Amino acid sequence: MKADVLGVQVDAVTLQECVRRITEAIGAKTYIRVVTANPEMLEAASRAQKLRTILNTADLVTADGVGVLWAARHLGSPVPERVTGIDLLEALFPVAATEHWRIFFLGSKPGVAGQAAARMAVKFPGFAWEAQHGYFQAAEEEALVERIRVFRPHLILIGLGAPRQEIWNWEHPHLAYVSMGVGGSFDALAGLVQRAPKVFREARLEWLYRLWQEPWRWRRQLTLPRFVLKVLRQKRF
Ligand code: UDP
Repeated sequence: MKADVLGVQVDAVTLQECVRRITEAIGAKTYIRVVTANPEMLEAASRAQKLRTILNTADLVTADGVGVLWAARHLGSPVPERVTGIDLLEALFPVAATEHWRIFFLGSKPGVAGQAAARMAVKFPGFAWEAQHGYFQAAEEEALVERIRVFRPHLILIGLGAPRQEIWNWEHPHLAYVSMGVGGSFDALAGLVQRAPKVFREARLEWLYRLWQEPWRWRRQLTLPRFVLKVLRQKRF
């Protein structure tokens, strides 16, 4: 089951279903590309054919944020729940530990991905990891790809910010059985930004908490009204 939101097919899946699909792909040694799609990304995809194609050729596209839940419901094909990158990661590490996966953490500022990986490896011992920051030059890319290939990760997490991470992921297929864009998740896993307290999350106000913590985000949140307008228009036509 999928919901068409601004031309992107979003999967109607729960967090647990995503964990199961990812675990199965790794077990079966098949390749899947995962996207957690937030309103900003969907709005951008509605304006850019290439990004739309990248999202529509992904194997799993989750509804990242209440805005996407609302849109799917409003358009008559509801999705069961919000599946954010960080929630998915937190659910995957315990499996990674017991299954002894190799995980490559790519992205964020120097030191952050390694710190995120090390913290998770203490909390969920059993997986192997390597990390690389996300401010590499084009000339360094070949060596980076080679390093990833030598490590042979089961899972690669790409935190370069959207939509760059989705484009990078699409341009570098088969680096790991499962590859997914994770936005700023390493910053949270490393303990550099606090996740919203449970009360905010349950009230579906995580975005408000994030805005308060990182006020420079307000410009980006201006996309939300544009997303809403486009969804309302999609329903009319
Ligand atoms: N980032 C990066 N390389 C870049 C630009 C950004 O690795 O050239 C990282 C940045 O450090 C941050 C993440 O990408 O960790 C983007 O986080 P943000 O919260 O802005 O992304 P979102 O989750 O909203 O897509």
